[in-house]
Amino acid sequence: MEKMSVRDVDLKGKRVLMRADFNCPLDEKTGEVADDKRIRAALDTIRYILDNGGKLILMSHLGRPKGKRDPKYSLKPVAKRLGELLNKPVKMMDDTIGPEVEEAVKQMREGDVILLENTRFHSGETKNDPEFAKELAKLGDIHVNDAFGTAHRAHASNVGVANYLPSVAGFLMEKEIRYLSKVVSNPTHPYVVILGGVKVSDKIGVIKNLMKKADTILIGGAMMFTFLKALGKAVGDSLVEEDKLDLARSIIDEANEKKVELVLPIDCVIAQEMKQKAERKTVDIEEGIPMGWKGFDIGPKTVELFKEKLQNAKTIVWNGPMGVFEIKAFSDGTRAIAETLAQSDAMTVIGGGDSAAAVERFGLADKMSHVSTGGGASLEFLEGKELPGIASIKDKEG
Ligand code: ADP
Ligand code: MG
Repeated sequence: MEKMSVRDVDLKGKRVLMRADFNCPLDEKTGEVADDKRIRAALDTIRYILDNGGKLILMSHLGRPKGKRDPKYSLKPVAKRLGELLNKPVKMMDDTIGPEVEEAVKQMREGDVILLENTRFHSGETKNDPEFAKELAKLGDIHVNDAFGTAHRAHASNVGVANYLPSVAGFLMEKEIRYLSKVVSNPTHPYVVILGGVKVSDKIGVIKNLMKKADTILIGGAMMFTFLKALGKAVGDSLVEEDKLDLARSIIDEANEKKVELVLPIDCVIAQEMKQKAERKTVDIEEGIPMGWKGFDIGPKTVELFKEKLQNAKTIVWNGPMGVFEIKAFSDGTRAIAETLAQSDAMTVIGGGDSAAAVERFGLADKMSHVSTGGGASLEFLEGKELPGIASIKDKEG
């Protein structure tokens, strides 16, 4: 179902209550915004609202203040940075709701911007308390939801308010929905899914759901060892989820039944310790990993094999790094896959917080069709779940 967006409503003279994701890291020493990526990501929607005569009331959470006011998590530094980026004043409120905020909103003119204080200073936010949601809803005529990163949570500022105000998607939310629903429901074939990361148990939902549509699934990361061990291979002291061996076998069987090609690594990079300086070797899986050694990356033969499988793909989804990419010695596999996707003509969609971080670290994020901004939310979307923060957005009519 298509969702209504900010483009589909009249904003002129309206009080537009927008939920953004301004959960930015702050510099511990200066208290200023250390990385303004999330603020910049909201600029398109913000400018559109202002250009179309809206009075913009922004809200977001920052960190986990546990339902109490905590100056450490104030959005003040965000107001400052946003003002610089917009080149206009952003009025910072001392609270999220209440008479003072209401008075300030009353004074607003078209094109004005107000930022409410951290929504999580009120316990009603994460409890999705209807009273708190009503207080927020009082401030607007329309709700714009651009916080994809919290879409898997039913909180007052994204979901609760939608009971009292019409809720429409911002541009960022719209883009997330467009790409993620395409790969979940309607991918162009051949469709290759690449899965990695730490645990099979974290990714069962994703594997099962994407297997319904995928032609090929490539498996790397630490979770490959649970699959390899299930097939009787010697994986040494690599990370294995012993209680998930049966599950791995059943996934392999299910792939066979569904005629989905499931591809496991044929070699890997091993070391005795997860350290840059540790002695490293590359071994074939057939040969086996000796005891005392652990696999930390896919090997060069596997990279070639995966490249071949990706060659004719028209749609590629990637979730989960191929190895411990945070350590240079074990980052080659993840980098090679990222480079392959960057050069591919396929629609390329990256989900998962660490996968997005990897692609960004390699400077390849803008070479992908879409890098999801929501870690947990993108995983739940790929699992086929309905996210409360998307369900609450109005469906397009007709
Ligand atoms: P995402 O956040 O993209 O969903 P995960 O959280 O599942 O990804 O996994 C990311 C982590 O997996 C990374 O921190 C990486 O270091 C780790 N990882 C990948 N391969 C291995 C491995 N062979 N051994 C240990 N950790 C690994
Ligand atoms: Mg992660």
